[in-house]
Amino acid sequence: MKLLFLGCAGGRRITFKQQRASGGFLVFNESVLIHVDPGPGAFIRLIQAGIDPAKIDAFILSHKHLDHSADINTLIEAKTMGGWSPGGILAAPRDALEGEDPVVMRYHRDNLAGIYTIDESFEIRLGSITVKSALKHQHHGVETYGLIFSSEGTSVGYVTDGKYCPEMGRAYKGCDVLIISTTFRNPRELDHLCLDEAVEILSGARPKLGVTTHVGAEIVFWGLDRAATYVEEKSGIRTIAAKEFTVLDVQTLSTSKVKLKNPTGIAYRVDSLSSCKKALT
Ligand SMILES: [Zn+2]
Ligand SMILES: [Zn+2]
Repeated sequence: MKLLFLGCAGGRRITFKQQRASGGFLVFNESVLIHVDPGPGAFIRLIQAGIDPAKIDAFILSHKHLDHSADINTLIEAKTMGGWSPGGILAAPRDALEGEDPVVMRYHRDNLAGIYTIDESFEIRLGSITVKSALKHQHHGVETYGLIFSSEGTSVGYVTDGKYCPEMGRAYKGCDVLIISTTFRNPRELDHLCLDEAVEILSGARPKLGVTTHVGAEIVFWGLDRAATYVEEKSGIRTIAAKEFTVLDVQTLSTSKVKLKNPTGIAYRVDSLSSCKKALT
């Protein structure tokens, strides 16, 4: 199992001025390609990396906020070509799909092969990767779920946005890699995590590797690597900062950079899935 971070931006200022890229991350192996939280820019970043969005097997939203979902409709359209090539799975919390303000448009939902609601007992097998909800987070009144991806004896936890609670350390225990949406440098009375809370979560969950992402302005200006080092030194858990177009091999815990095939975002070259995966290794 491998991860590709398309972006690492968090917070309004960094995301909506694109002072770091946003767009979520991919979880993939030979059997399946999953796109998690396709926020603003996700579609173009896939094209830049030479990954055809039509080759994505499943889209997962941890919650409906725009920094996690802005490109979902574009990607469903790109995946299904407006119904010419139906297929693909979508999983999202109920309020992303129903109610007054759903973020997934209804008109192309029938083009998907399946739509699943994420709740506290959510679990789905996609290729050889199992995805399950780990914990419901408190997050500005929207339904929000942390997730765990498991395959062949390794697992990745994704602590998405939310207010810190001690259960977070327990819920993600046993994960080899723990991705933490660490938006603030210092604690704030908002439903987002800060560096010292990332330390608490890592100290409880004890993964082999922590990954900070979804960073806001305080961390961007302080330094992504400096923030990751702070978390590592206080938690005793090796920690790296997610950055644009970085691939992380969950087995070896090694990282590499994707060589962009279409740096302008124009698809002069979009490869097949097998060559995409080869390019990502
Ligand atoms: Zn959010
Ligand atoms: Zn967010």
